[in-house]
Amino acid sequence: MSRATVVAVSCETYEQNEVETAVNRGIELLGIAEKLKGRTFLVKPNCLSPKSPSSCVTTHPEIVRAVVRVLKNAHRHLMIGDQPGGGHGERAIEVSGMRRVAEEEGVTITTFEREGYKRVKLSSLLRDGYFAKTYLSADMVVSLPKLKTHSQTMFTGAVKNVFGAVPLKTRRLAHSLAQLLPRAIVDIYAFRPPDLNIMDAVWGMEGDGPSQGTPRHLGLILLSEDAVALDAVASHLIGIDPMDVQTTRIAHERGIGIGDLGEIDVVGEEIESYRRKFRPPKNFFMKNPKVFSWLLYSLSSVRPRLDKRNCHRCEDCVHICSMDAITMNPYPVIDYRKCIECFSCSEVCERDAIKPKRVLHIPILSKLVRV
Ligand code: SF4
Ligand code: SF4
Repeated sequence: MSRATVVAVSCETYEQNEVETAVNRGIELLGIAEKLKGRTFLVKPNCLSPKSPSSCVTTHPEIVRAVVRVLKNAHRHLMIGDQPGGGHGERAIEVSGMRRVAEEEGVTITTFEREGYKRVKLSSLLRDGYFAKTYLSADMVVSLPKLKTHSQTMFTGAVKNVFGAVPLKTRRLAHSLAQLLPRAIVDIYAFRPPDLNIMDAVWGMEGDGPSQGTPRHLGLILLSEDAVALDAVASHLIGIDPMDVQTTRIAHERGIGIGDLGEIDVVGEEIESYRRKFRPPKNFFMKNPKVFSWLLYSLSSVRPRLDKRNCHRCEDCVHICSMDAITMNPYPVIDYRKCIECFSCSEVCERDAIKPKRVLHIPILSKLVRV
């Protein structure tokens, strides 16, 4: 396989002109302007759940606007689409600011559920499945992932953003595979990789991503035709070895992208000066553990915990759980014998009422140590 190129352009804020200038510069450095002419496009942001742009859960709407403006100059037909988790697709489009941008720019925005899915043979792991028709019918898919840590996969970026193109039922099945989830994500990615990936790394998320973490500034927009290479550079930027990200390693080993930094040309900014160590999710213990903390992590696990005060009993968490581990009585009750700690319930909860919490296996330690 030939070398991959990732473009890194500086973008300190979400101020409209700055973002647009950065995206235009990135497209120019990547040298793909000609490929964009006369095509039909699907722009696929990460619109995970109904969270405002400042929470850094979703792709920032100004990134969506800048990309739409670039593509509008070249397109025949352009649509923005995604399928947020839970049953609140329309609300997520609204709250994330994407509907406003679509209306102001005069382009259609839709959910994949509304446009329908096509039956496809995904992989031996996922067997028959469905893929968004809007995604499959576009000449070019332009994916706009958000740089975040992830409680189940450690890192989420461009490869994982394609996960949103399959219906919730397939996502539930993939989550139920627990340790095999990264393989399932790569299967979905490989079925129809995006043609262009533009990552919002102006502000990312550290800690308990993809929805319960803390915003962290990085000041970059990353572009590549190879989502695997883009993820490799992005994870390196936040202090994670690309080969520790299972989706990157699996995709690299299968030859469907380049995850080895030695085979990637980074063009644009000198990225080493942008590197920051992002705090990992609670359930990941990385890099040189001290003896005490090693013991602590060995004797504990991270589980979803409900905060009743924030819960409005919408039951979204019940419906998303692939293991049927949540029942209502009258608030959600989690059966930890069934729970596989995938944190989909936490992702989908609009009220942040379910959060990852470290629990020590030896009760006496829980009283001595606050984790
Ligand atoms: S925890 Fe409560 S508010 Fe959150 S998804 Fe579940 S039922 Fe809805
Ligand atoms: S309870 Fe939450 S973390 Fe556990 S399996 Fe269900 S969705 Fe995943």
